[in-house]
Amino acid sequence: MSAILIDGKKVSLDIRERLKRETEAFITKTGVTPGLAVVLVGNDPASAVYVRNKHRACGEIGFYSEVHELPEDTKESDLLALLARLNDDPKIHGILVQLPLPKQINEEKVILTIKPEKDVDAFHPANVGRIMLGNYRFLPCTPAGVMALLDAYGIDPSGKSCVVIGRSNIVGKPQALLMLERNATVTICHSRTVDLPSYTKRADIVVVAVGKARFLTGDMVRPGAVVIDVGINRLPDGKLCGDADFASVSEVASAITPVPGGVGPMTITMLMQNTLSAAKAAEKDE
Ligand code: NAD
Repeated sequence: MSAILIDGKKVSLDIRERLKRETEAFITKTGVTPGLAVVLVGNDPASAVYVRNKHRACGEIGFYSEVHELPEDTKESDLLALLARLNDDPKIHGILVQLPLPKQINEEKVILTIKPEKDVDAFHPANVGRIMLGNYRFLPCTPAGVMALLDAYGIDPSGKSCVVIGRSNIVGKPQALLMLERNATVTICHSRTVDLPSYTKRADIVVVAVGKARFLTGDMVRPGAVVIDVGINRLPDGKLCGDADFASVSEVASAITPVPGGVGPMTITMLMQNTLSAAKAAEKDE
């Protein structure tokens, strides 16, 4: 392997240490403890793990946190009523509803119900629009985590050719915008892209977020490129693997994120950062 390993666990720990110090200072100054409410509907095991990890991270940093676990058959109106209460609760600065939701609940309605000031996932159209305009309140956690990793390793996207593979609302599209904001020349590739390797082979930075194990192979990557692997795929043997074929890509790339231990840990860290920002904004301590 010739690529440098971009260590998301280490970067994440460093940022969490900083957040812990900032949180202590904020509490001392304002008397207010940043608070996050996480809402989980149903019994999806992966979602339950994510929610537990978020709750634990809050405790480590010094936030107040609440987990609301609702049954699978929760009525949409009950969830919306809970969100309305959390919107008005001064102890709560950030609200996160773990997706996906059971099918009787309209995800869009849920996202629209959360106050934009408390929407620490940055999914509300008001926050998405602000990102489009470059005047954001919060950045969506996974793409923000990718940018923080690049910064930690001194990889400046300015003037670089960046290919984002995937165009979802939570990863691909905002990732492309954040790269553009940092002056990269950005191409978004997706399931209808014809001749994907012709794009990826020209890229200085490839961000892959397709949800297919080992999708991006070494022969698709330009020697010396930086590869950021957002994918989290569970293999039949239970192990996790990314969207990049680590063995072949790490022979060609100059730097690569592993899975696990790359982008994954950064997502929760950025959620913590957004929660602290929300609390600071609420206390006008920015
Ligand atoms: P998604 O299914 O919503 O989107 C996948 C995207 O991949 C689509 O836009 C589609 O156009 C594109 N795609 C599919 N097949 C393709 C092909 N053959 N060629 C080119 N593009 C293709 O997924 P998502 O929510 O964006 O997540 C993507 C991956 O990232 C998943 O593995 C998910 O688990 C992971 N993820 C990780 C984190 C994290 O914290 N690290 C957060 C969110 C998502």
